[in-house]
Amino acid sequence: MTDRLTMQDPREQYAKPPFPKQPQPVPGLAAKMDPQPDHGETSYKGSGRLAGRKALVTGGDSGIGRAAAIAYAREGADVAIAYLPGEMTDAQDVIALIEAEGRTAVALPGDITDENWCKQLVADAVAGLGGLDILVINAGHQQARDSIAEVTSKDFDVTMKTNLYAMHWITQAAVPHLKPGSAVITTASVQAYDPSAILLDYATTKAGIVAYTKALAKQLIEKGVRANVVAPGPFWTALQASGGQPPEKVMTFGEQSAFGRPGQPVEIAPVYVLLASQEASFTTGEVYGVTGGAGIA
Ligand code: NAD
Ligand code: MG
Repeated sequence: MTDRLTMQDPREQYAKPPFPKQPQPVPGLAAKMDPQPDHGETSYKGSGRLAGRKALVTGGDSGIGRAAAIAYAREGADVAIAYLPGEMTDAQDVIALIEAEGRTAVALPGDITDENWCKQLVADAVAGLGGLDILVINAGHQQARDSIAEVTSKDFDVTMKTNLYAMHWITQAAVPHLKPGSAVITTASVQAYDPSAILLDYATTKAGIVAYTKALAKQLIEKGVRANVVAPGPFWTALQASGGQPPEKVMTFGEQSAFGRPGQPVEIAPVYVLLASQEASFTTGEVYGVTGGAGIA
């Protein structure tokens, strides 16, 4: 394949639909995806922009979080990743990649819908890394449902707990550790402002993440800490293949972007690097879209 940074037509750079039908149970595994997503395993090259930094990435086992974790390690950071115990195999791949850079990796398996675990995982990250100065809230739950009638209280609760409550619990526990120059980065979606009918509960949480992060940014600047949001469009990740979209929609996923394809996780990693680094020293309370020119249909 042509090097990622060689000048080329971005529409032709990565796989296009149609993709094979590939339903997976929740949580999906990156290792089972066809084609394999590019999280930067061989394609992301660092340049020391996060030398010596200490980062916690929730959902760092797969997808966008894995791409951020790999990029952070390549940029010189030690990285802790939080994930569900059922994702251990994906997580082990990421741990090995972080360690291959000579950086410290901390594995944090557990369920973030549990408040106590959210507090514990932050404590474990701080202990394992020897501090914390980059917090990436990226873990998310998304299940497509055709009708409001199908969204049970249990469904609604899991989506709220994973996407909103856990963000609050983890951020609340992390803030006392953040020194001036630290950065918080949350992960919303184009769904925050252009919601799909089938993602009622999920889209609601993504709008909430934007509001929360903007309010947080106003609080944290008094500590010299920045907070920003990344708002992805369609990315080729296990979230979509494990019920985030109906199985037949996964086969055409990304078709409606201006590029005619989904984004690959490595294509959003540079934004997570920028927002974490001191290069973004005048940037807070912003929402960075990386959508391929359009949202998810
Ligand atoms: P992904 O499935 O690879 O990552 C999501 C991660 O969330 C999982 O790997 C899992 O570790 C974590 N997670 C979910 N429930 C959890 C729980 N109860 N406890 C602990 N961890 C839990 O998918 P992704 O697409 O990379 O998702 C990352 C973020 O990007 C999510 O917030 C998602 O909403 C957002 N996003 C994705 C897309 C897309 O098209 N893929 C678009 C917009 C926004
Ligand atoms: Mg995963």
